[in-house]
Amino acid sequence: MAKLYFRYGAMNSGKSTALLQAAYNYEERGQRVLLAKPLIDTKGADQIESRLGVSRKVDFLIGQDDVARDLFAEHQARVRYTHDELAGLSRPPAEVACLLIDEAQFLTADQVDDLLRIAVLDGIPVLAYGIRTDFRTHAFPGSRRLLDIAHTVEELKTICRCGRKALFNARVVGGRFVFEGDQVAIDGVEARYESLCAECYLHESGGRLG
Ligand SMILES: [Zn+2]
Repeated sequence: MAKLYFRYGAMNSGKSTALLQAAYNYEERGQRVLLAKPLIDTKGADQIESRLGVSRKVDFLIGQDDVARDLFAEHQARVRYTHDELAGLSRPPAEVACLLIDEAQFLTADQVDDLLRIAVLDGIPVLAYGIRTDFRTHAFPGSRRLLDIAHTVEELKTICRCGRKALFNARVVGGRFVFEGDQVAIDGVEARYESLCAECYLHESGGRLG
């Protein structure tokens, strides 16, 4: 039976690199995969960008109001059709071997439910990669639902500045840590993020969580 996997980690834990590597592993065996991510208004929105410099365009973007399973079915059908056209219908239709989702924290809970349906009812494994918590230490909606229902949850680890395992994603604006603001930094605010362990986070926040 196909399963829903959630691979989460703090910022800079190599999630996009791991996703692109997983896609490559499938394709090396001659299998087709589909890549998707939630539609968010940032530059390079339709690209999956690894910190190692590799990037790749997604097959489709999932808007806030989109039905994820319908979108998947549409693109799965296109893969079959394109393959059949090229092959002159002489070979069995190409099946999608896997659906890979980047930035899965930005999906809605309903869309995550659809990922489980895609895995279980449609029989396609779904690998969702994302950040567990926002800069105020609260789970993103998509991540919370993935933690609820994914068959398998795996942590991709990264290291804090002090050498401990990073747990949180602290927001840095103008060279200083900030602990107030919207969950997603709005355009025009130059925010970056630093992965911190719980000790360093609490030190910087003065003991505050969220
Ligand atoms: Zn630390």
